[in-house]
Amino acid sequence: MRAVMKFGGGILTDAGSLERLAAIVQSRAKRSNVLVVSAVNGVTDRLIAFLDGGVDDEGSVERFIDETASRHEIMLAGITADAAFADSIRKLGRLLYGICYTQEVSERIRNLALSFGERLAAIMVARKLAASGIKARELFAEQAGIVAAAGLASGACRFAETRQNIGTITGLLNQGIVPVITGFYGIDANGDVVLFGRGGTDYSAGIMAKVLDADLLEVWKDVPGFLSADPKLIPQARKLDEISFSEAEELGYFGAKILHPRTIDCIRGTKVTAHICNFFDPDARGTRIVAKRQRRNRVSSVSCKDGICVISVASGAMVGVPGVLGRLFGTLAESGIVVDAVSTSQVAIAFTIDRHDLPNALQVLGQLQGSIIESVQVFENAALIGIVGEEFMANDGMAARILSSVAQAGVRPLMILDPASNNSISLVTKSADAQKAARAIYSSLGLGDAA
Ligand code: ASP
Ligand code: MG
Repeated sequence: MRAVMKFGGGILTDAGSLERLAAIVQSRAKRSNVLVVSAVNGVTDRLIAFLDGGVDDEGSVERFIDETASRHEIMLAGITADAAFADSIRKLGRLLYGICYTQEVSERIRNLALSFGERLAAIMVARKLAASGIKARELFAEQAGIVAAAGLASGACRFAETRQNIGTITGLLNQGIVPVITGFYGIDANGDVVLFGRGGTDYSAGIMAKVLDADLLEVWKDVPGFLSADPKLIPQARKLDEISFSEAEELGYFGAKILHPRTIDCIRGTKVTAHICNFFDPDARGTRIVAKRQRRNRVSSVSCKDGICVISVASGAMVGVPGVLGRLFGTLAESGIVVDAVSTSQVAIAFTIDRHDLPNALQVLGQLQGSIIESVQVFENAALIGIVGEEFMANDGMAARILSSVAQAGVRPLMILDPASNNSISLVTKSADAQKAARAIYSSLGLGDAA
């Protein structure tokens, strides 16, 4: 049995967590395990903040490097970090000094610098496993042969080429050595680092599960699994034992930060079963994610993504004119703005974006004003509530039930989105109304009492 085990930054926090990780791998030593790891908690954030803050004095680089090294050494609690670790720390230092002296940081250099969180974590985890009596070796994504190409927002794996490179990994497995692979990035044809976006280690783990023909993909988290609702809105939410690939994917898009939706993309159509496992209760059942769920036609979860805004653009000029939507969204896409939800009428288009993208979006829309756009309206504090369940929208009257429960709760949705699939429906409400709406929906669908 071949298993890919993903350990994210959320659980790599201190010496105790590293100890726990080793114990979990030890207890599953009968299988053939491949680990994929993220940077230690907060390390990627600190790298980003450091680069964004303008690297302009040597002293701060030195302090940053020292702190980064000791962050890992403390976790290793007495196990000596060896030459490989020192080498990576030195390289990161040189990169940052280079940026400091030249005051230049290209996308290429920045991506390389950001990949160091994962590099240091992989070395650290491999040393800890070795010290616990488990043969292990770190493999940077370039050594593991993860080939990727840059995309608009984040990179994507080239699966066929990556699959040709798995010999290094299987070679280690054949010798009983656990490969500890860096998440978050791959390498393009020029040997440059391509990042998979924030939270991208889940995607790396999905890539590995696919190309290695794994039986199992275990994603170890600091939560029990997927829940029947966003616990911030509905504290009574229950843990779900089983959900389907499409449900997991939809829930990811609706803001459940359990599994990056692109992970599912990797394993769809393969024999891989994914499993969300509880790092703090390793033998608990967690959530199984399967291609097709046993109990279908039921809602699984009510999720919520806050921090979005709704933009409505209106123009009489677009009635019957071909290509207006294409131009609008094409222009936004060129600026790297992700649009989550869209609804259109003959003379208006409403869509949602992340609140952080608003200034950028307004600028882009300004360019279109006078040609395809007459006016732009913004509602800044909105939340997207997603109701997810495999095939549940095939039941009669579901939309009516959901919308009337929301109306009874006194909430007027800003947008209603009934997508082409039967697996979800979603509403956009004011942020201030999201909890009221989510609770009303939750109770009306019989998921439990949410009062
Ligand atoms: N370290 C990266 C991040 O913080 C990747 C990950 O954690 O999955 O986004
Ligand atoms: Mg993560």
